[in-house]
Order: sequence, then C-alpha cells, then structure tokens
Amino acid sequence: MLNVLGYAAESATSPLKPFTFERRDPRADDVTIEILYSGVCHSDIHQARDEWGGSMYPMVPGHEIIGRVAAVGSEVKKYKVGDMVGVGCMVESCQQCSACKDDLEQYCLEGMVPTYNGTHKFSDNLPTFGGYSKQIVVTQNFVVKIPDALDIKSAAPILCAGITTYSPLKHYGVGKGHKIGVIGMGGLGHMGVKYAKALGAEVTIFTRSESKVAEAKKQGADHVIISTDEAQMAAATESFDFMLDTVPVQHDLNPYLNALKYDGTHIMVGLIEPMDNPPVHGANLIMKRRRLVGSLIGGIAETQEVLDFSAKHGITCDVEMIKMEDINGAYDRMIKGDVKYRFVIDMAAYQG
Ligand code: NDP
Ligand code: ZN
Repeated sequence: MLNVLGYAAESATSPLKPFTFERRDPRADDVTIEILYSGVCHSDIHQARDEWGGSMYPMVPGHEIIGRVAAVGSEVKKYKVGDMVGVGCMVESCQQCSACKDDLEQYCLEGMVPTYNGTHKFSDNLPTFGGYSKQIVVTQNFVVKIPDALDIKSAAPILCAGITTYSPLKHYGVGKGHKIGVIGMGGLGHMGVKYAKALGAEVTIFTRSESKVAEAKKQGADHVIISTDEAQMAAATESFDFMLDTVPVQHDLNPYLNALKYDGTHIMVGLIEPMDNPPVHGANLIMKRRRLVGSLIGGIAETQEVLDFSAKHGITCDVEMIKMEDINGAYDRMIKGDVKYRFVIDMAAYQG
C-alpha cells in the first residue's frame, strides 16, 4: 500500500485537518499521479458537512485534480511518466452497461464510483479519497490529458465546474441565436458564462451580488440581472431560451421559469440535496410547454472534450490559489459567496 499525506474531515462538524492514509499498490492498468493542484468545489462542502446525507468519514474531498504522472502500470498505453493529467469526479464505473457504453459513465446503471466519499466497488472495495492529497492512483480509463495550451493552475476547475456546465449546454444544443440565463456567479456559474459565450449564445448572469456585476461583464456576460430586484426579474419575463441554475441551496424556481419563453428549458445543476424548494407552480410549466431538467457532471470522453475545447478557445477559470492549511477559511468564504471564482489548492507546496 502507498502511504499518502492529505487533509480530511473526520466528522460533519470538525474542521479539516492533516491526515495520512493508504492507497492501493498500483495495478497494471493504474496511473499514479503526483497531485499539483486541486480545485475546491461547493460539493466538497456539502459532503464534508454531510449536507446530502450518507457521508463517510474520514473524508478527503477534492475532485478537480491536476497532476503529473509519476508511474504507470504495464497495461497503460495512454499515458507515460511526466505527462500532465487530470482526474475529475469519478474513478470507476461498471464499463458494461448502456450508459457506460454511451460514454455516460456518470449515469452508470450500477452507480459510478465518486473520486471521494465512495468505495472502489468495481475493484478492491477500498474507500475513495480525493484530491486534497499528494498522490492518487486511478485506472487509466478515468484519467484525462491536460492539453499543453492550458495553464495548469487555472485548469483544475474544468474537471468539475467546467464539465458540469459544458455538458448540458452541448446536450441541449445551446448556441447562436439563443438567450441563456446563468443563475449564481460562483465556480460553476462563471464557467457556464464562458462556455455559453464560446458556443455563440447571448448570456445574462442572474446574481444576488451587486459587487459581481462589473466582473460578470468582463467575463463575457452580455447582461446582468440582480435576482433580488423584483422589477428587474419582472422585466425579464418570457425572454430566455435556457436557464443554467447553479445555486447550491433551496430557492424559488418560479420567477426563473417565468423568465423562460415558451419551450424554454431550466437546467438544474446546483441543487443536489433534496429539493425542499417552494413548489413549482404547474402552470409555469404547462402554459408555456417549459421543461425543468437536471444534469450531472459529464462522461470521461466529454471531460476530455471540454479540456480540448477550453484550450482551443483560451478558456480558463478565474482562480484564487490557497494553501492546503487555508481550506477551512476557504469553505467559510464560499458559503458567503466570497470567492472569485474558484479556490485552487497548491498541493505541490503542501509538505504536511
Ligand atoms: P459556489 O459556492 O462557487 O457558487 C454558488 C453561487 O450560487 C454563489 O457564488 C452565489 O452566486 C449563488 N448562491 C449562493 N448561495 C445562494 C443563495 N442562498 N441564494 C441564491 N444564490 C446563492 O458553488 P459551485 O459553483 O462550486 O457549486 C454550485 C452547486 O453545484 C453546488 O450545490 C454543487 O454541489 C453543485 N454541483 C453540481 C454538479 C452536478 O454535476 N450537477 C457538479 C458540481 C457541483 P451570486 O453571488 O452570484 O448570487
Ligand atoms: Zn464538483
């Protein structure tokens, strides 16, 4: 077994702290990665604090991982020592079912194995530990290549925030001639703006934060609506083809549904916890044939696609680098919406 240094939550209420744990000895199909950067997703907070239920402790969060290949097994053909690679939100799936065969491992009928807070149920039954750590061992099918053109410090969030916003935009064919609203200007939201713009759509940010208006425009948003301003919300009635909703907590969907044209689509990516939202008014869907849909990250092939797309279009994340030791303060700031727009941990600098 490999002894690995990391940072873990030991319960839903304890702050994260240094933690040493074991990873499996690399197998023939494994890539061993020296982690350099690890993005901080709001899902890390939800799970470290058991906001979705079923959290397993100790938990080493982190599913936006960039690192250098330190070793490869004898069957690994795609990668060699020294390559810059990434690992996102999944590390295994059954590889046999219809979803896996369609490159939709995130919807694996047997249940995909998350990068942390899971169990390697298709191999050794060891717990999964994520990217807030110095090393990870992952089967080659769940490793992606980081294009040379991407700045590696700011590329880590593409592995979750990027793919989660890109995938539904592609699936629903968002592009030229469409008006889309992106709700919540955080890690996911700011990437959603960049991809929607690159795909040719006209983009409006819905934010609670006046302080983000100027930056939203700098990042390419065509318009900004302050979502707490009823007059601005009313003026938006029936004007959008799509909404991309990244808000991480309960919120009333009805005002956003009413901002959709007929046949418009509201895409939920933010609220994974039980939807204790104020009820959706049936008429808001029925009278305009609107759709309310959800989307989970993206498959491995599409994760490679979004990395290549980002390199081609010069899209990177706006990141604030932090030290591993700063993680608890970073969580507090994210909850206040005070991050522009993704924290990335400098794992290379962490020596325990
Ligand atoms: P962030 O914390 O970076 O951003 C969320 C943004 O939502 C905030 O910046 C804020 O934007 C807005 N917001 C926060 N609190 C509220 C509130 N109380 N009411 C209204 N708006 C609020 O989170 P992430 O972007 O990392 O993640 C967003 C959500 O997406 C999380 O729930 C996460 O678990 C989920 N997620 C889903 C995935 C999927 O596959 N579907 C994958 C990854 C994450 P502003 O200040 O502009 O209002
Ligand atoms: Zn995430």
